Amino acid sequence: MKIGTKLIHAGAEPDPSTGAIMTPIYQTSTYVQEAPGVNKGFEYARSQNPTRKALEEALAIIENGKFGLAFSSGVAATDAVIKLLVPGDEVIAASDMYGGTYRLFTKIFEKFGIRFVYVDTTDPSNIEKAITPATKLIWLETPTNPLMNITDIAAVAAISKKAKTILCVDNTFASPYLQNPLDLGADLVMHSSTKYLGGHSDVIQGALVMNDPALREQLYFIQKSCGAVPGPMDCFLVLRGIKTLHVRMKEHCLNGAKIAVWLKQQPKVGKVYWPGFEDHPGHAIAKTQMRDFGGMISFELKDESDAELKRVLSSTKVFALAESLGGVESLINHPASMTHASIPRDERIKNGLKDSLIRLSVGIEDADDLIEDLRQAIG
Ligand SMILES: *Cc1c(COP(=O)(O)O)cnc(C)c1O
Repeated sequence: MKIGTKLIHAGAEPDPSTGAIMTPIYQTSTYVQEAPGVNKGFEYARSQNPTRKALEEALAIIENGKFGLAFSSGVAATDAVIKLLVPGDEVIAASDMYGGTYRLFTKIFEKFGIRFVYVDTTDPSNIEKAITPATKLIWLETPTNPLMNITDIAAVAAISKKAKTILCVDNTFASPYLQNPLDLGADLVMHSSTKYLGGHSDVIQGALVMNDPALREQLYFIQKSCGAVPGPMDCFLVLRGIKTLHVRMKEHCLNGAKIAVWLKQQPKVGKVYWPGFEDHPGHAIAKTQMRDFGGMISFELKDESDAELKRVLSSTKVFALAESLGGVESLINHPASMTHASIPRDERIKNGLKDSLIRLSVGIEDADDLIEDLRQAIG
């Protein structure tokens, strides 16, 4: 089945009791049992909820996996993965990744004795060199937030298999429409469903997808034991969002390409980060592991003064100044002071994230209006 059909029909069985074509929002905390221990597979809503179950089935199908699990946020999904580990275990993670993931690793889990080693994963040999007998997990993000770095998932999967570690890929930026890490050998896919899966900036949610039943059992145990589960209304919203993912992503990609090319021609704009450019260092790999290049773009201003940065960031009228991404509306963001402020400045600079970097989440408005908006803001 092709992706458009899969996205619309995944997990969407008509409701058995009424025939409702849309999955009902089962707003309940518990389920009546016929006798002690005799039930319909639903006991208590932290452990099972039919709306969440439909969503989890959909998540598995759209990532070409066997099992999906939904969490109350993207970081809650990441949190569950790290809870597979025990003190003394090591994680090799990308040096350039979402600020909230870095904060969770360094500020929460380090104090429980989990060790994190950060390497430039765009060169997989850096991962190979960092592996020790204590390495249990490799954490990748590709494309990265916000520098759009690309890592070869299949190459890292081969290294991970040899070392018998778990490879988890944060696939938030690409979405399952553009990239399916399980097909490339990853063990786990993580999503901030808040972004492209939900697609309408109206929900916070996270997801994990996997093939291995043992891994699913462990993660399900963590999900119900720690309790970071999404409510049924939020599951409904993500299920609805998934149905139009392909339609939205096509537009995000078209608009993204137009804006990236336009930005590169502007005299006031410095470096533009977008994997669709042939001179992007990860372009060749992006072309093989992604179906298109997406609607996320970062760029620097040539005038690196604070005043110029603030002027541009406060001048857009269609692009709203806000954190987050992946919604139908365009957003402009300043990583250094917003999404990535939790990473210390010297770490950011070391990883190439300049104070002058601006990140765009290109929405699906008319491209001409978006370009006109950027033209009047950048000047
Ligand atoms: C937003 C985001 C997260 C965190 O997800 P939340 O839903 O905000 O908890 C993780 N990774 C990436 C790449 C993100 O953009």
